[in-house]
Amino acid sequence: MTNARRSGGGRLGAAALSGALACAAAGAASAQTEADFRSCLAGLQRAAKAAGVSASTWREHTAGLQPDMGVVARLDDQPEFRVPIWDYLAALVDDERVADGRRMLAEHRETLAGVARRFGVDAETVVAVWGVESDYGRSFGRTPLVQSLGTLSCFGRRQAFFRGELFAALRIVQGGHLQAQQLVGSWAGAFGHTQFMPSTYERLAVDFDGDGRRDLVSTIPDALASTAHFLQKAGWRSAEPWGFEARLPAGFDLRGEGRRTKRPLSEWTSRGLRRADGSPLASGGLVPATPAGLLAPAGPQGPAFLVLRNFDALFSYNAAESYGLAIAHLSDRLRGGGEFATPWPTDDPGLSRAERRELQTLLIARGHDIGEVDGRLGERSRAAIRAEQQRLGHDANGRAGRRLLQALRAG
Ligand code: CA
Repeated sequence: MTNARRSGGGRLGAAALSGALACAAAGAASAQTEADFRSCLAGLQRAAKAAGVSASTWREHTAGLQPDMGVVARLDDQPEFRVPIWDYLAALVDDERVADGRRMLAEHRETLAGVARRFGVDAETVVAVWGVESDYGRSFGRTPLVQSLGTLSCFGRRQAFFRGELFAALRIVQGGHLQAQQLVGSWAGAFGHTQFMPSTYERLAVDFDGDGRRDLVSTIPDALASTAHFLQKAGWRSAEPWGFEARLPAGFDLRGEGRRTKRPLSEWTSRGLRRADGSPLASGGLVPATPAGLLAPAGPQGPAFLVLRNFDALFSYNAAESYGLAIAHLSDRLRGGGEFATPWPTDDPGLSRAERRELQTLLIARGHDIGEVDGRLGERSRAAIRAEQQRLGHDANGRAGRRLLQALRAG
């Protein structure tokens, strides 16, 4: 999801992940809530007009609009910050997504080469964003944007930001760029293959196939080019990688380090860091003066990364370091790279989507009614997980990890 935090101060999730990890809250609104919503919308009409939304557009799309209070509940419940990073990455960068991504690289080779020539962003990075944001177009989200943005314009803690996005969405429809029914997306208002917010669409969407329309919903070349354009504007350097995994010396003090604390590679070298494969930091086209920040999202025992300017560009797409790492790691896997050299410091690793589906199948076999096997762990799957954890004497936290999967396989 593009750029939501910078504009608004919160963190919003990718549709692919929201689908996989988030549980939908009930959206029913009380009569009082509906009355509040009507009166809020009436009060917004003047601002909408000032923002270029005609009275007839406003009427057409807000008359009869119902608030969806589920999206307000999700505003404070972002998976990037709620789940352990090893769970987050296990679902987003699994073998399936790598294999699917390689197919997409082949299928869209010419488009991606053209995108790289025009915007200077390589194919693997663009495809990685696509894979994480919408599972390569399979998962756009199902929330009508005008409804979710209308609701968030009137309830919750970031109304001014979402009003701007609501007006942008209505301008897009009014201008005939996309139809309102095409504007469905993740709950927070991002839509299409690479989950642009409406205001980002207005600023950066590109008509790459040359049909005169900037269509990020049904035209893959437009969506891929727009993503590359976003990254280019965010400062992408075509000659540099996002960064790389590094090995810390024993006893390294992480305090004060982070993405923003950039130091030249020469300084990291003198402090004892090496690349994970043991090679020097300033290699592969990087020079000793190249600035890099140090990320160690699970502390000194877990994998560490030196991140360059391009990681900041990925970060600006969705304002979460875990998100940036997912894109970065997937892009490396698409280039043929392997898992991180240092494993996450846990004895209960996260599950891939295939393992999540296996877990769901095992839960059903034990008599739990969790709905269909889809790899998405919703409320019913979590309730079943808690019940099984309780039976097995595990911590009944509802988390799907390797330990539970193995116990159910054995049982
Ligand atoms: Ca087009």
